[in-house]
Amino acid sequence: MADFNVGSNPIDWARGFTIDFDLKTGMSKKKETSKRRLSNMRGMFADEAALEKKIAKDDEVVYEFHEIGAPETAGDLAFGCSITYPGRVGGEYFMTKGHFHTILETGEVYYCMGGHGYMLLENPEGDWSAHELTAGKMVYVPPRYAHRSINVDAKEPLLTFFCFRGDAGHDYGTIETKGYRKLLVEKDGKPQIVDNPKWK
Ligand code: MN
Repeated sequence: MADFNVGSNPIDWARGFTIDFDLKTGMSKKKETSKRRLSNMRGMFADEAALEKKIAKDDEVVYEFHEIGAPETAGDLAFGCSITYPGRVGGEYFMTKGHFHTILETGEVYYCMGGHGYMLLENPEGDWSAHELTAGKMVYVPPRYAHRSINVDAKEPLLTFFCFRGDAGHDYGTIETKGYRKLLVEKDGKPQIVDNPKWK
């Protein structure tokens, strides 16, 4: 006989579980976050001098995320929250590195829990788009598209919940090597898309 309710809700991929995410911080008591500081973001921002200057002053956390590590099967779903902090490097907003999935033909959903930002999408063929995110908005990332979260708010963190196929994997190397075709920068006090001068 199955349990009516599992009071302690241990993470049980075989039988199901619940998990709490704090709506204000995106944090979960069940999972530590991985942090990416400015010094982990070398090569990601166009203005390298501005980045080094900031690192020397304060090696801030740019973003953190946790993933409730699912079994790496086609049938399971990996999920978690991503928290991108407010800030800028030169004219560019704080952002995640961005990635393709190792299994390129894999979609993903992101649900914005708070803050204000954009999800920048780009596929290997060069198609790109930027989707504005505010609390309550969901963005669908289609198969083949790299995705990067960008926080355009001056004060609040951008919080998103994400979910994707358990065996999709992450390909960070392509973006680390080639960069994104487009950048989101602040110009005249508002976000603008410009070509990435360093794109290869
Ligand atoms: Mn992804």
